[in-house]
Parts: sequence; C-alpha cells; structure tokens
Amino acid sequence: MKKEEIFDITIVGAGPVGLYATYYAGLRDMKTKLIDALSYLGGQLTALYPEKFIYDVAGFPKILAKDLAENLIAQAMQYEPTVCLDEKIVKLEKIEEENIFKLTSEKGDIHLSKSVVLTLGIGAFVPRKLDIPDVQKLEGRGIHYIVKDKSIFKDKNILIVGGGDSAVDWALNLEDIAKNITLIHRRDVFKAHEDSLKKLFNSDVNVKTFYELKRVHGDEHIEGATIFDNRTGEETYLEVEHIILSLGFLANLEFIKEWGLEIDKNAIKVNSKMETNIPGVYAAGDIVNYPGKLKLISTGFGEAAIAVNNAKNYVDPTSKFSPGHSSDFVPKKIKSG
Ligand SMILES: Cc1cc2nc3c(=O)[nH]c(=O)nc-3n(C[C@H](O)[C@H](O)[C@H](O)COP(=O)(O)OP(=O)(O)OC[C@H]3O[C@@H](n4cnc5c(N)ncnc54)[C@H](O)[C@@H]3O)c2cc1C
Repeated sequence: MKKEEIFDITIVGAGPVGLYATYYAGLRDMKTKLIDALSYLGGQLTALYPEKFIYDVAGFPKILAKDLAENLIAQAMQYEPTVCLDEKIVKLEKIEEENIFKLTSEKGDIHLSKSVVLTLGIGAFVPRKLDIPDVQKLEGRGIHYIVKDKSIFKDKNILIVGGGDSAVDWALNLEDIAKNITLIHRRDVFKAHEDSLKKLFNSDVNVKTFYELKRVHGDEHIEGATIFDNRTGEETYLEVEHIILSLGFLANLEFIKEWGLEIDKNAIKVNSKMETNIPGVYAAGDIVNYPGKLKLISTGFGEAAIAVNNAKNYVDPTSKFSPGHSSDFVPKKIKSG
C-alpha cells in the first residue's frame, strides 16, 4: 500500500470558513491539507450566490460573494497548502496506535492527518425540488435552483418561487436587469430579512402570496408557468422565460453520525474550543452548533481561528495557544502585494 503523507491538519470543506481556517493553519506553520467535494473553492459563496452582494462581513461595506471568495482563496493559498478538489469525504476514523486520523473519500483515496477541522457547511448542496411534471426535464433550460450568471436574465420575464432570503434577495438583485419579476410564496409569512422585505414591497416585483407553482410550459426551454391560489384553486398563466426555484437546500448529514460525532440540531456539537466529542477533531462554520450559534460568515471566521489554534495546540502541546498578532509577523511566503 502506498505510504500516505501525514499532515498536521486537514480541513474538510473549502467554503469561506474552511478557507479562513486554511489561512490560519498556514500562519501557525502547520502542514495543511484542504479538501472539498466540489471542483472549485468557495463553498456557498461560489456555488450558490456568486453575484450577490454581502453587506455584513467586517471591513467590507459591501462585497460580491465571488470577490470575497477570491480574496479568501488568495489569503488561504499564501502558505501553499495541499488542495484536493472533487474529493468527497465519506469516512473519518482514528488509527489509535498511530494517533492519527484517516479520512476516506468516495473515490477511495486516503488522507492521513494529526488533526482535523470539519467545515462542511450544509454538507453537499442538494436543492429542494418540486415534484411537478417537466420541471426536471427543463433544469438548466429555464429552470434554475441557483443563479450563477445574472446576465441571462436580462430583459426576461422571471418567476421566483419561495419566501426565504434567497428568493427575496434574487428578486431584488435581478430587478434592475429583468423585464418583469413575479415572486410567489405559498404563505403570507416570509422567512427573509426585515430590511429585504421592506425593499421587496417597495419594489416593482409582483409579489403574490398564497400562490404555488402548478405546471411549467415549454419543450426546449421554459415558455410559461401556471400558478394557482392555494385558497381558492384559481389558476393563472404567466408568460415567463425563467423560473427560479428558491426552496432551500436539503442537508444530508446522516453520514456524520457514522463518524462517531455527537450531533445537536442537525449539526456537529462543539464546545468553546470548537472541539467535537472526538479529541483532535474540530469543527467550525455552518456545520456546528453550540449555545448562541449564529450561522454567519463573520462568526464562522472567528470559529475557524479558535478551531485551528486549538488544533495546533493538540498537535504540538508545547506550542502557544495564542497565535499572537499577525501584524507582528514577517510573512515568509507571501508574494509581492
Ligand atoms: C443566498 C444566500 C445568501 C447568503 N448571504 C449571507 C450574508 O449576506 N451574510 C452571511 O454572513 N451569510 C450569508 N449566507 C450564509 C453563508 O453563505 C454561510 O453561512 C457560509 O457559506 C458558511 O460557510 P462554511 O464555510 O461554514 O460552509 P459552506 O460555504 O457551506 O462550505 C462548505 C464546503 O464543504 C464542502 N463539503 C461538504 N461536505 C463535504 C464532504 N463530505 N467532503 C468534502 N467536502 C465537503 C462543500 O462542498 C462546501 O464547499 C448566505 C447564504 C445563502 C445561500
């Protein structure tokens, strides 16, 4: 069997939190590996809403998700970590006699590490779908679950289905380029930010509550949609070229239970050191739960720093827990700029 290299720390999940953890591990001079199931870095920022502005990351009055991802990647790559993409980890176990962790991917690749930080976010991204004829057939041909490229909506009629942040934000984000936007939601209670809702109801978006999608029309591409009032059953036909189904994502975290991790509210339970119930395995970001947890990028960054500094101390108990101030360091490998 090939002798696998042993890393000081392996970070599983290359979303914003995993990327920041990777930077921090480099800063702490740890031999670092970063793994992600996707073929690109950035997690939700890149996969789900690259073209949306984020307003609540410290130091940036506003920044496009894709630009934040790009900055995080540049920061994380300074210390030249080993990066493995298209590598979904399906098994985590401890080799007790060697005191190291063995991570196995779906493809059967093995990764060995003295410590592990799990930044799995919401797990693999599986959008919630609707069981309506032809929706699946027209996926990518007018049916969308995420918006990757705003420009395709220019001067088009769009139907958005959903009542969460994602649906409301997309309605507001596309308003300036779309010809017309209708947003339908099956209830009159939205799960979106108050400020976004205020903007939505002051916008030109045609908001229809108690409406649901019944049928989609079109052979090669979406041409229309039939929606219905779920109180009366009354149907309305809308001429639309695009339908965005913003119905949330299903998190499949079942496999984590098999890793022996303690789960709390469909997330990994951690203590104030971001330590899981398995010594040497830490977690941070959307995947964790603890009293007072907020699922935000800004809080995830702090959790990443705590997780990595504790992992450093676990791997090398003689090391200081506190990293000191980065402004006092002379970075070794940072290229110009
Ligand atoms: C539309 C939308 C708008 C948002 N707006 C904001 C905002 O304005 N402000 C804010 O703070 N937050 C916002 N969020 C939430 C924010 O994006 C998340 O809190 C953040 O992405 C969490 O980062 P993370 O690194 O923990 O996880 P993620 O970004 O989810 O990244 C996790 C990574 O782990 C990988 N992964 C999962 N399982 C495995 C596995 N088994 N093996 C290998 N890799 C794996 C995934 O592929 C993914 O790349 C928004 C979210 C959405 C959907």
